[in-house]
Amino acid sequence: MLRKASRSRSKGQRRSSLVEDEAEPVEEVRSGTLLELDLLDCPVCCHALTNPIFQCDNGHIACSSCCVNLRNKCPSCTLPIGVYRNRMMERLVEAIIVPCPNAKHGCTENFSYGKELDHEKECGFALCYCPEPDCNYSGLCNYLYRHHYVNHSGSRLSFTPGYKRDACMRISDKILFLQERRDGPLVAVQCFEEEQGVYVAVNCIAPCAPGVSELSFQLSYSSYFGEKTMSFGLREMNMIQKLSFKTPEKDFMFVPRYFLDGRTILKMHICIRRQG
Ligand SMILES: [Zn+2]
Ligand SMILES: [Zn+2]
Ligand SMILES: [Zn+2]
Ligand SMILES: [Zn+2]
Repeated sequence: MLRKASRSRSKGQRRSSLVEDEAEPVEEVRSGTLLELDLLDCPVCCHALTNPIFQCDNGHIACSSCCVNLRNKCPSCTLPIGVYRNRMMERLVEAIIVPCPNAKHGCTENFSYGKELDHEKECGFALCYCPEPDCNYSGLCNYLYRHHYVNHSGSRLSFTPGYKRDACMRISDKILFLQERRDGPLVAVQCFEEEQGVYVAVNCIAPCAPGVSELSFQLSYSSYFGEKTMSFGLREMNMIQKLSFKTPEKDFMFVPRYFLDGRTILKMHICIRRQG
């Protein structure tokens, strides 16, 4: 076939006369394999290089944030760095296409080198971890919900979106699970007892991907005789893949100790809604 001639580089400059005039110029993308992706990381901070990429007069390269941190002094040879860009390296980094790190779990998206890490933070195929102590299960969220339903029946209540339900828990239990239907989204209500009072946090165990489990909630606490009440809600419930057992620094309801009247049970109600 005449196509042989157009095995040329791009843009057809090298098209030989063998190509018939009427024939469409055939542009073949030549590809190869880069075995050491580490070459595309900044040699200073080891993060994926992204534009702009700078070079010193000796050809050492660094990412833009490293140039700032190094006060524009090349760490290898001390010549100035941070003015001249290495356009070829910039093109190279953009041209390298890599799969999502969750490709093995089913994600089919591909990205320019380094961009896959931004996507990973909101990839719907990220693994979620079973929040029960002594259980090492991890899996896609729907599998985790089923796993939790089948394997851990204690301390779990069910909820129906849009309906308020009681969510009483012993402070010493530290955690209460709510699950929609039999094996729907799993919500963890956690309490953390500190000297001044109790912190209560509500999280959905799910990847932080748009459209996965978009829930909101309203939580309320009332003292034993109902004379003291407080409430807290989030329009967007936090979604986390792995539960933390550290006292939260944000997005919590704080029940001061004097509200507890010495009781060891938190009398709460919760209403979980689907967003939108
Ligand atoms: Zn760097
Ligand atoms: Zn240098
Ligand atoms: Zn992905
Ligand atoms: Zn488990």
